[in-house]
Amino acid sequence: MPPCLFCKIITGEIPGTNVYRDELVTAFRDINPVAPTHILIIPNKHIDSNNDVAAEDELALGRLFTTAAKLAVQEGIAESGYRLILNTGAHGGQVVYHLHLHLIGGRKMQHPMG
Ligand code: AMP
Ligand code: ZN
Repeated sequence: MPPCLFCKIITGEIPGTNVYRDELVTAFRDINPVAPTHILIIPNKHIDSNNDVAAEDELALGRLFTTAAKLAVQEGIAESGYRLILNTGAHGGQVVYHLHLHLIGGRKMQHPMG
């Protein structure tokens, strides 16, 4: 299997606007932002989707959320609020099959459940 798009961003083979990196996760700006802040936070280990998470991934998966909280402060959107989205599979609207958490903020959004 050739490395996926986001794995290539992690290795630097494809340029990304990196905003954070540690031993477990990498964060970079979405190429097609839907709000003033739109960052993708991904595990450095390739995981296709939430259907493929295992107990051994729990530390990295937790780090996605603590990183989102830190980046929200850094982006100045912690107080105003933000949305975390993790799309899974076709019905969930997943396009890139390397698990990623969207951090989206900087504008008021409609409630997703209507
Ligand atoms: P999803 O629909 O949850 O799979 O989201 C995939 C996201 O990846 C979309 O918001 C795209 O805009 C974003 N994306 C696709 N290619 C790139 C890229 N090369 N760099 C940054 N973001 C990307
Ligand atoms: Zn990957």
